[in-house]
Amino acid sequence: FRIEFIGKRIVVTGAGQGIGRALALRLSKFGGKVIAVSRTQKHLDTLFQEDPKIEIITADLADWESTRAAIEGAGRIDLLVNNAAAARLDRFLDVKPDDVDVLFNVNLKSVINVSQVAAKSMIATGNGGSIVNISSQASQAALKDHAVYCATKAALDQLTRVMALELGPHNIRVNAVNPTVVMTDMGRVGWNDPEKAASMTSKIPLGRFAEVDEVVDAVVYLLSNRSSMINGVTLPIDGGFLAT
Ligand code: NDP
Repeated sequence: FRIEFIGKRIVVTGAGQGIGRALALRLSKFGGKVIAVSRTQKHLDTLFQEDPKIEIITADLADWESTRAAIEGAGRIDLLVNNAAAARLDRFLDVKPDDVDVLFNVNLKSVINVSQVAAKSMIATGNGGSIVNISSQASQAALKDHAVYCATKAALDQLTRVMALELGPHNIRVNAVNPTVVMTDMGRVGWNDPEKAASMTSKIPLGRFAEVDEVVDAVVYLLSNRSSMINGVTLPIDGGFLAT
């Protein structure tokens, strides 16, 4: 089957690098008008060079007010991917207050902020929409040194369900995907060490980490009308890790 996003305006956060960047490029290739929101100007500049159809907005999602203004200024929004996140690893006993503030600001609070603006736009058009939150296997499995990150993603899963409940009547579907490790910059922070990597892959029935495109494929499906009855799910993309 064919998926197209022609005529759709799609906001992707954290589109400067990694999964978000690949998503932005794919959604644009499938005909969507992508609005790429991210923090580092030079990453967005190279994205724009790669695909000048993509509109870029530089914003620090940790800042509620400036992000709100930037997203409100983006015009109509039909589809949204909340992809941006930060990770800081530390032993539970060493977690700092600043780690908690930064991670919850970027990984959870900004999702509420951007989604409020997007959902209001979707409601105003009367056409509904679809929102996909990029969560993680870390929302459901305890990962060593990931206490705060795990907590933000668990909160994101539950936020996804409540958004699905409240926005469903407006024909806005809200779902999450929960990937295992993907070797982006973020993935490398936690899993570059071969011993650590092996300890994880040995628990994944398919015996490997996920590829960026495997996450992109699932998000494209959940954004599209092909998933028109799917609402409120947290979809593992983990080779079976959470099932075992
Ligand atoms: P990357 O670190 O490769 O990319 C993250 C992107 O988000 C970057 O473009 C970064 O901007 C942007 N970003 C981070 N903080 C902010 C901020 N405050 N304001 C605006 N933009 C920001 O991460 P991934 O691509 O690996 O991760 C994407 C999503 O996938 C995240 O939600 C992550 O939690 C999730 N995930 C990742 C996994 C992995 O192993 N990689 C596994 C499971 C889930 P900048 O260009 O400045 O760096």
